Amino acid sequence: MENFRSFQELNKLKKEELIEIIKNLKQKLDKKIVIAAHHYQNPEIIQFADFIGDSYKLAVESSRTNAEFIVFCGVLFMAEGARILSNPHAGCPLADMADLNMVKKAYDKIKNEINNEITPVVYINSYADLKSFCGEYGGSVCTSSNAEKIINFFLQQNKAILFFPDYYLGKNTVNKMGIKDDFIAVIKKNLSLETTGNIKKAKVFLWDGFCPIHYNFIISDIINLRKSYPEIKIIVHPECREEIVNKSDFFGSTEKIYNIIKNSNKGSIWGIGTETTFVERIALENKDKTILPLKTSACKNMVMTTLPYLASSLQSILSFLENKNNQLEYEVNVDKEYQENAKISLQKMINIVENQ
Ligand code: 13P
Repeated sequence: MENFRSFQELNKLKKEELIEIIKNLKQKLDKKIVIAAHHYQNPEIIQFADFIGDSYKLAVESSRTNAEFIVFCGVLFMAEGARILSNPHAGCPLADMADLNMVKKAYDKIKNEINNEITPVVYINSYADLKSFCGEYGGSVCTSSNAEKIINFFLQQNKAILFFPDYYLGKNTVNKMGIKDDFIAVIKKNLSLETTGNIKKAKVFLWDGFCPIHYNFIISDIINLRKSYPEIKIIVHPECREEIVNKSDFFGSTEKIYNIIKNSNKGSIWGIGTETTFVERIALENKDKTILPLKTSACKNMVMTTLPYLASSLQSILSFLENKNNQLEYEVNVDKEYQENAKISLQKMINIVENQ
């Protein structure tokens, strides 16, 4: 039996010692584990990742792995999506912006208000109960990389869409699709429905939630950068406000941002509107380009995954495998009640994306 250290002991170690411990544990666990890391993770975690990506890529890769355990370095909703291991304290303020009871009420209200069939589409930044609701009502999950495809899929079937919890991802996506404001309604906190058109003809109903990290960026951030660097290209995440996306040159998921910059010309200058840790890593990996954040805007939940947590999680898996009576630390459990329908809506997303 290994002599494992407590989290408190691990937390006192130097970075170099933790890195050695993690390397050693990873070697011992070999093919039994894979480590998945979201783009917003710190480089010290990224170095151990077997796969890195945006939420969509992580969901798909996690569903395809044969490993017995997935150590998920991200936030809880992502880990939950794949029923895996993560830091259970890493919440997400955006995911907290819609709750099942309110969404159900909004759904019923819209259903009574319009003549069309209504389909729920939930952004992956949400918890399992909302994904389950979507599965139950014939809808789908989406991520920032595929929101357009998913929305389009249902609109083509002449269904109206209830999109939640991120207003800006929804609005920026339908703007790009050319859907006019008169066909869009906003669901306010008191569940009133606001539109510039006729509510009965609305095609997309957007929940009024937002990501505080992306909401931080304002127009003057872009104007100032363009003044200092007239040749700069601006790229932002679609959770940014509408006017930020409209004033940028490109927008897309973390994976899209990463790839566009990686494949851009030497010497090019980029202003990026997304999470700071990620922007700093892009700058480190693209030293032949000038990489600037629109402003500093860090997600404190994403960087809760630290080396001591990773070491502790790997230790716990090893100890579990050696002695099955042990409890797994940081295990993410999805309520049984939601598992089946949440899987239906996640699988629906993958099917729509992979078959188009
Ligand atoms: P993506 O990885 O899908 O781009 O989403 C990142 C995210 O959660 C932004 O809040």
